[in-house]
Amino acid sequence: MLKIGCHLSISEGLFNAANVAFGIGANTFQFFTRNPRGLKSAKFEKEDIEKFLEFSKLNNFSKLIAHAPYTMNLCSAKSDIRRFSLEILKDDLKKMSQIPGNFYNLHPGNHSGQGVEIGIEFIAESLSIAVSEDSNTTVLIETMAGKGSEIGSNFGEISAITKKTGIKTLGVCFDTCHVYDSGYDIVNKLDPVLDEFDKKVGIKHLKAIHLNDSKNPCGSKKDRHEKIGKGRIKIKCFEEILNNPVLRNLPFILETPNELEGYAEEILILKSLRTPQMRVFGE
Ligand SMILES: [Zn+2]
Repeated sequence: MLKIGCHLSISEGLFNAANVAFGIGANTFQFFTRNPRGLKSAKFEKEDIEKFLEFSKLNNFSKLIAHAPYTMNLCSAKSDIRRFSLEILKDDLKKMSQIPGNFYNLHPGNHSGQGVEIGIEFIAESLSIAVSEDSNTTVLIETMAGKGSEIGSNFGEISAITKKTGIKTLGVCFDTCHVYDSGYDIVNKLDPVLDEFDKKVGIKHLKAIHLNDSKNPCGSKKDRHEKIGKGRIKIKCFEEILNNPVLRNLPFILETPNELEGYAEEILILKSLRTPQMRVFGE
């Protein structure tokens, strides 16, 4: 079964968001744990959680992705921002423990001129403090486009972070727009790109996909999401991604510039591109 959904607001609670997701043909969704640019935390209320858990079980929902706020920067040059970001991370993970078994996705951060190495040190340090291997939430590091001083725009940097923490349970969220913008040509060389990911990070750490087209060419480092099939990545590549044996069972989350109606249309299109799983001879 295709695990697909989009980014939704949980301002009316998780149960409501799950209903909205179901209504557009989704069986998962992503949400911000707090206002993405501000810091106001979304409420997780007991009654809402119970209704959500029941609904998602009944409708066979796959794992959700909680997304950290954009204001979080674990490797800021300013120590107060680093400290504050760590507090957000700890607080968000505590909140996520109320809905066990889901993902928490974060952007590695911007080193703001300190250099990649120092940035990676800071990120790994905070992750080591906040993330426990026993946690029932899987923390994902997102692949980035490489805009400004973003860390995580190549698989080597992602791998350096995970290795430095030594946390075996850390996962990665692969954003198609970001990876393409950062210079990996998934349109013409999807398999070689995945091979490189496997060599550097390990394919078993790949836990989720942000499915976005890109407004800009490969290597542009711009990070401007486009609707599926309307940008440079094009529909044929999404078809390959959806059916790739390594990727096909992961949850796919749309972060395309759409309202609900547009997401419903994209989900319909993507479902139509899905082919039955190929059986390997002799299996
Ligand atoms: Zn993101």
